[in-house]
Amino acid sequence: MLEQIFMHQKAFALQLRKESLEVRLEHLDTLEQIISQNQQAFCEALAKDFSKPEAESLLTEIYPLIHEIQFAKKNLKKWMKPQKTSTPLLMKGAKCAIQQEPRGVCLLISPWNYPLLLTFGPLISAVAAGNTVVIKPSEFTSHVSSLMAKLLKEKFKDEHIAVVLGGHETSTELLKFPFDHIFFTGSTHVGRIVMAAAAKNLSSVTLELGGKSPTIVDNTADLELAADKILWGKFINAGQTCVAPDYLFVQNTVHHRFIKILKAKLDATYGKSAEERKSSKDFARIINTHHTKRLKGLLEEALAHNAGFIYGGEVDVADRYVAPTLIENVDVHMGLMKEEIFGPILPIQTFKDMSEVVHFINERPKPLTLYMYSHSDMHIEQIAKETSSGALSINDSVIYMANPYLPFGGVGESGMGASHGYHGFKEFSHGKAIFKQSWTGKFLKMVYPPYNQKKIDLLKSAIRFKV
Ligand code: NAD
Repeated sequence: MLEQIFMHQKAFALQLRKESLEVRLEHLDTLEQIISQNQQAFCEALAKDFSKPEAESLLTEIYPLIHEIQFAKKNLKKWMKPQKTSTPLLMKGAKCAIQQEPRGVCLLISPWNYPLLLTFGPLISAVAAGNTVVIKPSEFTSHVSSLMAKLLKEKFKDEHIAVVLGGHETSTELLKFPFDHIFFTGSTHVGRIVMAAAAKNLSSVTLELGGKSPTIVDNTADLELAADKILWGKFINAGQTCVAPDYLFVQNTVHHRFIKILKAKLDATYGKSAEERKSSKDFARIINTHHTKRLKGLLEEALAHNAGFIYGGEVDVADRYVAPTLIENVDVHMGLMKEEIFGPILPIQTFKDMSEVVHFINERPKPLTLYMYSHSDMHIEQIAKETSSGALSINDSVIYMANPYLPFGGVGESGMGASHGYHGFKEFSHGKAIFKQSWTGKFLKMVYPPYNQKKIDLLKSAIRFKV
């Protein structure tokens, strides 16, 4: 069955590349209808999968998709138009342009943590760029994955967009096919497997991976504002966000004050007592028992090595609940400071001098996002220049992702390639160089063989010529 889908898509991709802007816009309209007409059904499926609060589903899954589609529809004409380039003096007369052509047959593998957003997001870019797509959504969000499969099947033929449901064995089977492009969102560990499989067919890849996103708060920061932003970015989706602040670095002179603010704000958001927080309807659950136990294990390991809770710490495995938790004195060799946490646990470290933070970050894999709360231009410049990360967000949290003009993606172990807006469109396109020679091209014959001293002298003077 997989082979049949792949072969049909391969044939249809050739058809699709001939289609006009209007046809692509119709496909985007259909995707928009699927999302906008089924908002309630998607919110219900997300609630069934991991008790995601409706407000968070609307804000972090539905709204960004509608925005992404509308942005693509508004700009597609411009994106599809060949971009004229300059031509060096020695080639004057030739007409040059870059034409974004569809890659062809694409594979899209998505994770469970934002199951709708991270499937439809790249799908919008792939469709805008004129590709066919095979989608393998996560097996852990069965309600959302089957709803997406059903709705897409109603509107698109398998030869254009096909959803294949299944676990990692299904991904493994799919990865054997020579896709023109593979867009993978998930863990760094599986990202390596995907890239190795892609190498066998020389398929190009986009890897949107995870990792630890450090967050710095210095003594010039607006602490109230920083606390609001950090807590929101950390605890939406119960911390299961690839760009969630993973751990905090707070300057020692403001450390106690900042912790007091964090605690007061958590009380005000989720409830003053452990019971109130557990019954809060505004706090999601962990995706499954395996991940709840993993988080419990990380906490136990840290506590056994002198770490201490500042806030929260309760875990109920049966309910897949991990309380919003602040923890301090975590040894850097413990799992909490080594692995991506991917849950509602925020370790807090202190620092004296910004160079300590720079050193700490540069000793570890490059983060997906680095957050910094500061009003010191000197500190901001130091972090911007001396560290590398997919993105640097200053004085705000995950919201930078909502700007479609910015590329979204990692670097090194946090990924390669980018998504969103034109960056996503480009990722699913090949920028083909188009060179159309004019009559002046006939002069090039002057340096074709058979060679002689005159031709060599001509070449020597051409090399001296400044472009
Ligand atoms: P995951 O890597 O376990 O799974 C992602 C997808 O890969 C799923 O569809 C899964 O079925 C498939 N898969 C799993 N094992 C596979 C294998 N051996 N071979 C081929 N395919 C396989 O990730 P997850 O647990 O679903 O998601 C959480 C991770 O994703 C976190 O690390 C998070 O940071 C990362 N993430 C990154 C982004 C981003 O945009 N950079 C966004 C969301 C999540």
